[in-house]
Amino acid sequence: MQTQMWTVDKNVDNLKTYPHIIEAAQKLKQNEVVAFPTETVYGLGGNAENDDAVLKIFEAKGRPGDNPLIIHIADREQVFSFVKEIPEQASRLMDAFWPGPLTLILNKKDGVLSEKATARLSTVAVRMPDHPVALALVEASGLPLAAPSANLSGKPSPTTAAHVADDLTGRIAGIVDGGATGVGLESTVVDCTGEIPAILRPGGVTKEQLEEIVGEVLVDPALKDAKQAPKSPGMKYRHYAPNAPFYLVNGTKEEIQQLVNEKRNEGMKVGVMTTKENKAFYDSDVVIACGERMKLETVAESLYDTLRAFNQQDLDLIYGEIFPEEGVGQAIMNRLTKASGLPVIEK
Ligand code: AMP
Ligand code: MG
Repeated sequence: MQTQMWTVDKNVDNLKTYPHIIEAAQKLKQNEVVAFPTETVYGLGGNAENDDAVLKIFEAKGRPGDNPLIIHIADREQVFSFVKEIPEQASRLMDAFWPGPLTLILNKKDGVLSEKATARLSTVAVRMPDHPVALALVEASGLPLAAPSANLSGKPSPTTAAHVADDLTGRIAGIVDGGATGVGLESTVVDCTGEIPAILRPGGVTKEQLEEIVGEVLVDPALKDAKQAPKSPGMKYRHYAPNAPFYLVNGTKEEIQQLVNEKRNEGMKVGVMTTKENKAFYDSDVVIACGERMKLETVAESLYDTLRAFNQQDLDLIYGEIFPEEGVGQAIMNRLTKASGLPVIEK
């Protein structure tokens, strides 16, 4: 399949009538799948009401069929077509964070969306992205768009059109290139079907920010305890993984350097993932700074690009520093732990 690339300036006026957007929307209406930028990561969109379109998303990504997709909308009225009710707290969260990196789980109205999109659950995940290109595409297509991240399943999520092209060229109808994304981590997923809202996946909106709007917010215990089954089906899979084994280290930079030295003495090619503050300290084959430790949003923004950058090098092993689990640090550590899939080395 030929993958078309449409380059779109996200700052032009009235994007939904822009020829490239119309063309991409046309493909979506024909139940083809198209990648597009959002403020979190690039999404791979398809008509959420059509089984064929949704199947194409799962096939292009190699995504397990039991992992439901997030439905993207451009206007709040659209939610009512496929959701039973909007609880008071969900409504307050929408007011506060939409458009934005917050996905809400709500009870689903039957018979509207493709059952494949929701993995046959009685609930549905929905969000309104805060990106002019994403919103224009949803509007121009006139469809709710099912859209997971536009990467091969298991790989780091894409934050540029080039990342998408690396993974999905030849597998999808097109890519709308609207530049690099902003937040860099996926949306926070919050279950609003119970009495108290519960975070199923940490992300761009922090627990502290949610609590300011609705008071108490729970966190799915499975996020802390690997032995429990997560409420969000996707959280059980390994994700974001670089090619080489990736170990997180709870230790000082001196202790990490010591580990590096030991492995290099054994003839291994070793990478280190650090931040700008510590980059000059390390001596290894590849040392990459992922943002600034003092500004965790910058770490979030460049996390996936950094994980992908390690794959440009033929490494035997990567060591990474850990981060405090506060604010966006929660989402960063969630993604790093998944990328590693190995126990943290405690020093
Ligand atoms: P992705 O599309 O890859 O960003 O992942 C979407 C996340 O939302 C995955 O972790 C899914 O398992 C989760 N999700 C989607 N729909 C539901 C749902 N109805 N209930 C719980 N989690 C969901
Ligand atoms: Mg994903």
